[in-house]
Amino acid sequence: MAPNSVKVGNAEVLFFNDCVNDIDVTKFIPGVPAKFWADYPDQVRPNGMLVKPINVAVFAVITPKHTVLVDSGIGPVPFEQFPHLKGNMLGKMKRAGIQPEDVDTVFASHAHFDHIGWHTVLRDGTLTRTFPRAKYLIPKLDWDAIYDPQKFIHARKPKDTFQPAVDVLLWSKPLLDRVVAFGNYDLTEDEQDITPELKVMATPGHTPGHQSLLLNSRGERMFFMGDAIHLPIQFDHPLELGAADVHQRESAKTRAKAVKWIEKEKVIAASPHFPDPFGHIVRVQGRRYWQVLK
Ligand SMILES: [Zn+2]
Repeated sequence: MAPNSVKVGNAEVLFFNDCVNDIDVTKFIPGVPAKFWADYPDQVRPNGMLVKPINVAVFAVITPKHTVLVDSGIGPVPFEQFPHLKGNMLGKMKRAGIQPEDVDTVFASHAHFDHIGWHTVLRDGTLTRTFPRAKYLIPKLDWDAIYDPQKFIHARKPKDTFQPAVDVLLWSKPLLDRVVAFGNYDLTEDEQDITPELKVMATPGHTPGHQSLLLNSRGERMFFMGDAIHLPIQFDHPLELGAADVHQRESAKTRAKAVKWIEKEKVIAASPHFPDPFGHIVRVQGRRYWQVLK
């Protein structure tokens, strides 16, 4: 069984799954002929559904001076468009010994609803910040895109904008409005240092401002990929366009670059959606596999 926590230098990374969701790969990556998936019976069923459902997960990075949450999951309230999904990661976090007030930074890889759902919570009938002491970090370009989509999505990349995915991104506006209302937030840009050990790496395309994070502690590294790569089956054909991506071609280029980099650097990667969150990319007989951390 894969671990729920990993030591990276002086840091500890804990994984908390908020909920799981079934995915139909033929809809998620629609350009791939169905027969292609027959080569991946360990991952895709003949009907196109994933063998294991995806996670919607959160990571806590504990360094000597900081407790950083990487994404906050789907949240406690079923989202209007996905009423069957409801998160339970907060209870798991508390049971692992992390209280909401221990968290000093909440980083969002991007502004999708399934990554910022626990930013706020209803407590005794009153809406409040879930992590009262934390600075909330949102990618600047996602912020710009949500508050002025005409200017930042359509005008910037008119030929590489997939409207259904824009619509999904805009579902997040009410969630962000709450973050604004409570204050203590900041907007993040490429190469920004979040803590001495955590640096932003822009991985745009899934959303305009999508960001990954690189943890580096005493020479040991972990790459929080966010949704730059959604599923291990994308390793071998990263350039296939994804139906969840706002800028599909840009996302495909980002994915191909990220896959190559993770493989070359032999870095441990962490995914909020892979069924097994921690692993490496390894190559066996020319094909790339997700080798789960043991
Ligand atoms: Zn996601």
